[in-house]
Amino acid sequence: MRTCWINGQFVPESEAKLSIFDRGVLFGDGVYEVAAVFQGRLLDADLHLARLTRSLGEIGMPAPASNDTLLEVMQSLATTNGIDEGLVYLQVTRGEAERDFPFPTTVKPSVFAYARPKKLSDDPNAAGVAVHVVPDLRWARCDIKSTSMLAQVLAKQAARAAGTFEAMMQEDGLVTEGGSSTLWIVKDGVTYTRPLSSDILAGITRDVAIALAIDVSMPLVQRAFTVDQAVAADECFLTSATSFVLPITRIDDTVVGNGTPGPVTQRLREAYLDRARRLTTV
Ligand code: PLP
Repeated sequence: MRTCWINGQFVPESEAKLSIFDRGVLFGDGVYEVAAVFQGRLLDADLHLARLTRSLGEIGMPAPASNDTLLEVMQSLATTNGIDEGLVYLQVTRGEAERDFPFPTTVKPSVFAYARPKKLSDDPNAAGVAVHVVPDLRWARCDIKSTSMLAQVLAKQAARAAGTFEAMMQEDGLVTEGGSSTLWIVKDGVTYTRPLSSDILAGITRDVAIALAIDVSMPLVQRAFTVDQAVAADECFLTSATSFVLPITRIDDTVVGNGTPGPVTQRLREAYLDRARRLTTV
């Protein structure tokens, strides 16, 4: 039986309970983070917690605990659950209150976290995944890592129904991002990803990948690209905390490039894995 953490206590997952009046349940009034566990250690948890602090601030929610405490809890969940490669999920909701859209300022946030194993270094998806193009039906504050995610649920369900791994969300022909990932293309040796704005989440993996690309003098431009440009690209890939860097080898019915992981994608995935190994070696 796995152990999770809820409102200050470690308990078996089956014993963790949230009220039906929790605003996370009633309104999706909450924010969350997902950090990778690699070699048994949290990866970039400080960056994830900094983004959590920002998300909390943007929706006027107090921090449920210090980031040091949350860091300790997250690492402890990875360790006690014997996770070598996997993830820790952390969610903060506005808390329990009588149902009313405006929130009482005195309500105490609910907070919980759990860990799961997942293959990261030896991910079978590193051979290449397919994506399905869907309209981006989300709200105007995609920079907040909110738990209100019905649009992504439907986008990723449509992607799965189409036999693909991820949604490629687009608005007016421009790619915004994946259902739960940042999207990139490579054309004529230049790597492109959308610039930060309220249209996309500031991916932690995106930031790290940009830094790695700069380190090795890989030409990179932060510019939005169209679905047509993605389809005509030499390479396409996605990034996320629990996928690292994954090649996209098909967009709906169109094979990308020659249908195999391209050199830029592979180089970036290797660089990402090297960094992850280095950072988590104790
Ligand atoms: N974009 C969206 C909409 C996401 O949900 C995620 C991750 O869940 C990402 C991008 C990638 O962000 P990160 O690299 O921090 O995992």
